[in-house]
Amino acid sequence: MTLAGDATHDPALRSWVGSANDPASDFPIQNLPYGRFRRRGGTEPWRVGVAIGDGVLDLHAAGLGRGPDIAEVLSLPVAERRDLRVRLSQALRAGSSDETRLRACLVAQTDVELGVPCEIRDFTDFYAGIHHARAVGSLFRPDSPLLPNYQWVPIGYHGRASSVYASGIDFRRPHGQVKPPGEAAPRLAPSARLDYELELGIVIGRGNEPGVPVTLADAEAHVAGLTLLNDWSARDVQAWEYQPLGPFLAKNFATTVSPWIVTLEALAPFRERFGRALGDPSPLPYLDSPANRESGVIGIELEVWLQTAAMRERGDRGVRLSTSSFRDAYWTLAQLVAHHTVNGCNLGTGDLLGTGTLSGPEPSQGGSLLELSRGGQQPVPLGNGEQRTFLADGDTVILRGYCERPGARRIGFGECRATVLPARAGVG
Ligand code: MN
Repeated sequence: MTLAGDATHDPALRSWVGSANDPASDFPIQNLPYGRFRRRGGTEPWRVGVAIGDGVLDLHAAGLGRGPDIAEVLSLPVAERRDLRVRLSQALRAGSSDETRLRACLVAQTDVELGVPCEIRDFTDFYAGIHHARAVGSLFRPDSPLLPNYQWVPIGYHGRASSVYASGIDFRRPHGQVKPPGEAAPRLAPSARLDYELELGIVIGRGNEPGVPVTLADAEAHVAGLTLLNDWSARDVQAWEYQPLGPFLAKNFATTVSPWIVTLEALAPFRERFGRALGDPSPLPYLDSPANRESGVIGIELEVWLQTAAMRERGDRGVRLSTSSFRDAYWTLAQLVAHHTVNGCNLGTGDLLGTGTLSGPEPSQGGSLLELSRGGQQPVPLGNGEQRTFLADGDTVILRGYCERPGARRIGFGECRATVLPARAGVG
């Protein structure tokens, strides 16, 4: 696929949807992400929407989408998905002759419920954030923070699709087996070390046939786009259960994704070179190509915000805990897709691949409280007298993401948010 910008990225483009022209909007006409919406509180089937400013364009009603199922949009071949983007851009730009007709297909985002952006078929979580891997590894293995396979294999595990929730859906603090240091036996208890993980979600558009690997060159043709993803993690449960097969109940109680799939087409102006630090091994040939080296990276800036119950009561929007960037990941999204399928594993439309926690190189850029509090040893001050080592009941975690560079219109991902509710009574 071509990565250069086209007319749909022109920063001078304006929309007849006035709110889309606000420089602070995540959803200018240069973005055009897909998601699912329905009337708030309703039970009717989801409809496919395109975010534009503070509105949602009903794609099917506008006569621009294919079927009413978002899978049909996400699984379009590259040329057709580019064509749909061009038609949307033309229909929504200021002066379009479609304006009067399309105004009837536009609803306010505040008037609708936004769901998980597509039916999640399967969920894999990678571990592509090397700064996270190193920081967490150093807590458990100070002399060898990074295991020897890390720089060769994109590490991952299979997660669970059933508990992938839409942004805004709150969940209860999970119970699990925990065995605090110094105690002789484990017990069942509400997690006392509940954490978030700042990640991106890669949404697969077109699947691959069983047994037929997706090559690095083809990988991005199989990706519809990206969301924000919070891989909530119970660290005390994780510490006791993770050996020898990896995370299980510490991770599968809740995963939150943002409502909008920002397409690879929209991200084209933000591509960057991929490289390895001096002394690091070069990726194996199936994970290496000139195109991946030239522009495999996407510069997506990420933020974690925390709003405690006390902040909420005072009308305080919360505190920014950290910032980081997808550019600091060790593997590109094309490498993750190529690796996932190299053994013949079949991906399908709606498969979700988490990147792994995206921390930055600085200690203050940890994408989880585990990192920011140094394993719970150093409470993180919140600036209002409160502090956290791990999450408290009533805490709302909000992930945000955006891309910006000179000569391009800034685009954003919206929000990925959920609140921790108290543990269910009577479980343990
Ligand atoms: Mn994770």
